[in-house]
Parts: sequence; C-alpha cells; structure tokens
Amino acid sequence: MKYRVEVVQTNVFYIEADSKERAREIATEDYIWDEAQTAPDSYNVHFNIEEQEDQDNRENDVYYIEDEPIYNHKLIENDDFEPNKECSQCDVEYTCWDCEAEQIRERYPDVRYTDSLEWVVPTK
Ligand SMILES: [Zn+2]
Repeated sequence: MKYRVEVVQTNVFYIEADSKERAREIATEDYIWDEAQTAPDSYNVHFNIEEQEDQDNRENDVYYIEDEPIYNHKLIENDDFEPNKECSQCDVEYTCWDCEAEQIRERYPDVRYTDSLEWVVPTK
C-alpha cells in the first residue's frame, strides 16, 4: 500500500509592526520556522494521509491482445536475453525475436504478448 502523506506545519507568530506587509517581512526574515517557539508564538504539525493507488499499476492496468482488453496483467520484470549461438538469426549482441520469445516462455509459462509488443503476465 502506498500513502500520500501531507505534512502541514504551522507557525503562528505575534509580531509588532506598522503594516501587514512589514509583519510578513519580519516573519520571513527574522523568525525561524521550526518547532522551537516561545508562547504565545507556536508551532503545530498536522498530517493528512491518503491511500494511493500505485501509479504504475494503474497506468498499466489494461493491455490489448488482438484488440481485446485484458486486465490484471503486468509487464514482465526479467527481460534480458541471451543470444542463441546455434541460431542463425541471433548475433553476439542481438537476440532474435523467436529466441527471445522462447526464453520468456520458459521463464513465464503464462506470459502473453500484447498488441503494443510487450510481454505481460497475470498479476497474482
Ligand atoms: Zn535466435
């Protein structure tokens, strides 16, 4: 679970000044905004905490395979592949699509290939 924690810190100062602007200036320049205050000046902290949906999961929630939406899938995490030395399509640096697919299917038996050319697996 992810939470958005808003920390609201409030300092209240009682300032002698000729105008609001001057009082604001003094509050900005002459005071330290922290918890060490002497009455009647004060410091307060308040937390506003909200549950957050995981941004990544929400964005990646829907994938499409042959234009059909599929839900509750996520991108595979392990996506580095070894070129197959016996394959004529593979190179030293390059793994061809077939070999890549084979390696992924071994790693993730229930993997699926989406219309946006990504590999996804069901979320548990
Ligand atoms: Zn290959």
